[in-house]
Amino acid sequence: MAFTYVSGRPCLDFMGTLKYRGGAGAEELLTGPECLSEWAIQAGLVGAAVDVADGDLAAALSVREAAYRIVIARLEGRRPPVADVALVNEWAAQPRITPRLLRSGATRREGTAAQLPATLAADLLDLLAGTDIDNVKRCAHDGCTRLYVDSSRGRNRHWCGMGTCGNQAKVQAFRARQRASAR
Ligand SMILES: [Zn+2]
Repeated sequence: MAFTYVSGRPCLDFMGTLKYRGGAGAEELLTGPECLSEWAIQAGLVGAAVDVADGDLAAALSVREAAYRIVIARLEGRRPPVADVALVNEWAAQPRITPRLLRSGATRREGTAAQLPATLAADLLDLLAGTDIDNVKRCAHDGCTRLYVDSSRGRNRHWCGMGTCGNQAKVQAFRARQRASAR
């Protein structure tokens, strides 16, 4: 499966692996341990497949959901849930995936499955501690619940990505205009 990386931060892209949140149409993309490994490779977090057990996947998903609730609380000006704060702090204190220098002078990103939630929790804390958090937005397209950092010059990006929602939204707007002018 080709995953989508449009959010500008690994932790936000990771939240996007549960699509169309909050309704009957919610779609889980990480349906098995191997999906997490594949997601991490495509995200560039690891250079090769990692061995993911069921427990690793469950841990990663619980960090993902806690992180999502924390960011939403921030966007809505609320305090984050206490249990989520504890969980994310606990994971962020664990060793994360870092590049390793090889004798050839090249580097390679390698780590264990347990380091994935640690890496994502740490990325969330970096996001919250920096200035990017002020530009985090929810995609404006109907039903899409992806979060992204709006780094456009005018801070006027409405969609998680042109290839994901932007083109669909433009097509819908175009059809609506056509319908309106046909009347
Ligand atoms: Zn979207």
